[in-house]
Amino acid sequence: MLVDVRRVRGRNEAPVAPGAVLYWMQRDQRAEDNWALLYAQENARERQVPLFVVFNLVPTFGNTTLRHYDFMLRGLAETEGTLRKRGIPFFLTEGLPTDTLPAFVLEHQLGEVVTDFNPLRFTSAWRTKVGELLPVRLTEVDAHNIVPCWVASPKEEFAAYTFRPKVHKLLPEFLTEFPKLRQQSGVSLLPPIDWERVLTNITTDRTVLPVTWLAPGAQAAQRCLEVFCTERLATYDSKRNNPNETGQSNLSPYFHFGQLAPQRAALSVQAVKAPRAARDAYLEELIVRRELADNYCFYNEHYDRVEGSHVWAQKTIAEQAGDKREFLYIKDNWEAAATHDPLWNAMQRQLGETGKLHGWCRMYWAKKIYEWSPDAQTAIDTALYLNDRYELDGSDPNGVVGVMWSIAGVHDRAWNPRPVFGKIRYMNFAGAKRKFDVKAYIERWSEPAATLFHDR
Ligand SMILES: Cc1cc2nc3c(=O)[nH]c(=O)nc-3n(C[C@H](O)[C@H](O)[C@H](O)COP(=O)(O)OP(=O)(O)OC[C@H]3O[C@@H](n4cnc5c(N)ncnc54)[C@H](O)[C@@H]3O)c2cc1C
Repeated sequence: MLVDVRRVRGRNEAPVAPGAVLYWMQRDQRAEDNWALLYAQENARERQVPLFVVFNLVPTFGNTTLRHYDFMLRGLAETEGTLRKRGIPFFLTEGLPTDTLPAFVLEHQLGEVVTDFNPLRFTSAWRTKVGELLPVRLTEVDAHNIVPCWVASPKEEFAAYTFRPKVHKLLPEFLTEFPKLRQQSGVSLLPPIDWERVLTNITTDRTVLPVTWLAPGAQAAQRCLEVFCTERLATYDSKRNNPNETGQSNLSPYFHFGQLAPQRAALSVQAVKAPRAARDAYLEELIVRRELADNYCFYNEHYDRVEGSHVWAQKTIAEQAGDKREFLYIKDNWEAAATHDPLWNAMQRQLGETGKLHGWCRMYWAKKIYEWSPDAQTAIDTALYLNDRYELDGSDPNGVVGVMWSIAGVHDRAWNPRPVFGKIRYMNFAGAKRKFDVKAYIERWSEPAATLFHDR
């Protein structure tokens, strides 16, 4: 077997029928380095039937906007082209997958469906329902995590320190080179899709504009990875936490839309001659932290609720619930970057304008939303709304865990109690000033900078 069977799990009990194999592409929107597609191709070749790929476009979901659809659809256009070169027909359906997928399978008399894995509840619910409706087998392959989510751990992990040894132990078995996608011949291809038309017609919220600083697609992702490996990896550990530097990899949107396999990034980083500390710091984020986020969302049904946090965190949140907040803001204030804090406002502007708030700032940003909201659940809802609406990499398990870590202590430990936060870790302006040049950051992202900055 090309694909480790531990990556694969059934999503229904239906049998495999004689027809073609369909890969229902969802989270992993790439042609190369994709275990789900490789698994579908392996099955098709074994049974000597054609392989098709379908992507089902849902016109609106959650808090996503044109910013996300633009990046995704342009990436899919490239994926369609790469599959075409491999002789694999790519279909685009539109609507709810629970309607379109079963109809597509019947129309084309398909023999089985393979899909990829995402622990977030709305896509997981689609797969459950589609599995029930399909007359043929539906199989799910974890093509996103290096160590498949259900193999890395059979339960929700308490923190990175409990998850890390489990993942590291399994890495030699899973962090391997990908086989190449094979050429398919003898199957008729479809006329090319008019992606510009699809983008024009999509009924999503068009008020948040596409990003211009990061090109979508698998080739751009590969270039971004190469530039990071040659120019910035060596200083990742020292520069990544400075919001005034470009010290991070900027790869998260490519991972989120599946345009680049995290496994490919890990293999490339391992192969670079860079200081050990820098490589280890990057692989810790890329592998342990990122895959821990999937673990949390997969095993915790309350993943975006206070009830999803540790018992100590729920207790401290309840104990501080009556504490007076010095400032209280509503959604419009947050969204307009109109708080009393010039640093928070600058962060919201960076996020709104670019679709990427620097990694360190995301923590401060979410913690202040907690400090100036009436209660923890309102803060979680506000932070996820803003995160998923404006971050290009939003609507991702990483975002859920980032918000839950900041507001509800998920994967963190208890700290010395203080008002409002209780034992949840606190961050403040003075701490930010010790970390980086806050004035320069505010000047960069605020208008007019001079009147907004007050030295504290
Ligand atoms: C409040 C909050 C919200 C966040 N929202 C998101 C989100 O919506 N989508 C998202 O992908 N990440 C989110 N993160 C995690 C992290 O901030 C981003 O992944 C990172 O800043 C993306 O930039 P990069 O790719 O340049 O990261 P790099 O520093 O280059 O890191 C490499 C990769 O490691 C992973 N990674 C890095 N930091 C984390 C982390 N803390 N947790 C999990 N994985 C991590 C990402 O996949 C990232 O691409 C959030 C964090 C917080 C505190």
